Amino acid sequence: MKLTWKRIQAHTRHVWKIARSGESVTGGHNVERAIVSIEHDGLIGLGEAAPTPYYGQTLDTVERTLGAVEQARGTAGDLLGDDPRDIDGIIDRLLERFDDQRAAVAAIDAALHDWWGRKEGQPVWRLLELDAATTPATSMTLSIDDLALMPQKVEEAKGFHILKMKIGTDKDVETLTRLRELAPTQTIRVDANCGWPAAEAEARCRAVEPFKLELIEQPFKEGELDAVRTLRQVANVPLVADEDSIRPRDVEKLAGVYDGINIKLSKCGGIREALRMVQLARANDLKIMLGCMVETSLGISAAAQLASLVDYVDLDGHLLLVDDPFCGLVLADGVVRPGDEAGLGVRPTGNLTV
Ligand SMILES: [Mg+2]
Repeated sequence: MKLTWKRIQAHTRHVWKIARSGESVTGGHNVERAIVSIEHDGLIGLGEAAPTPYYGQTLDTVERTLGAVEQARGTAGDLLGDDPRDIDGIIDRLLERFDDQRAAVAAIDAALHDWWGRKEGQPVWRLLELDAATTPATSMTLSIDDLALMPQKVEEAKGFHILKMKIGTDKDVETLTRLRELAPTQTIRVDANCGWPAAEAEARCRAVEPFKLELIEQPFKEGELDAVRTLRQVANVPLVADEDSIRPRDVEKLAGVYDGINIKLSKCGGIREALRMVQLARANDLKIMLGCMVETSLGISAAAQLASLVDYVDLDGHLLLVDDPFCGLVLADGVVRPGDEAGLGVRPTGNLTV
């Protein structure tokens, strides 16, 4: 089994900005990602690393992690072994050593799943005994921006039934008032990205409730669970954890606190860990959102394999790009889903060589 990787660049249509600082693409158009390749038996599987500095991960730490995995090849501490079908064993070994580098682990996990599907000649969703045809519609995300740009963004998102508005500033009401004028019938969910001060919780929530929101994502800083508990007693909108919900061991402590959790492959470590979170969430009566970073179609395709399992889909990262270097995901009537092609079902466009 041969492991290689390379950095690629892509660009967002609009400047990407959210409430908390430290986000990987705040304030610019450039998105840099690592494409990981696993080659074995004449077949190649691909995965994408979309690290977030907020979680202590950058492309440098991804490459250091991949370099350490490569360096251990053929030694007593070999983490990959010789069988790419041993996904559970490989991911267990990787997480034991790189628990805090889950974006890199997620890329290897995706490449292993892609390889497995290509070997079997089946899409990964089918190998996981799921039905991609039942995938719920995705939301299209509008990042924090000058309100003058909102008409253009809403127009660009008119094919989507659900809009996700980034809020969490002192302009929330102004933003949602304008959005409701422009999108009177679309479902609106909001993401505060930790931006609400806990002391103003009830006032902030009361101020946005008239806009008939589907849900509120991560109102407060991570760890402020008492504030979430208090708000949930008075809120008429489901509260969903994102920055509070990183990996499987986070799920049980969120039960009875939030109404749901947002699972992202680059936070949790890939498809295998995401499936664990789905099981834990269901066992603890939590709703499930499946989210993403700004990623190419390759990264989104790994999450899309699981999207039929969840309540809320937010897989629009590739749709924010003007130069997505991969293609193959289906977008139809506001639903993003994988096709019937083998593996993750995507392929490079243009002259990207991997
Ligand atoms: Mg979020």
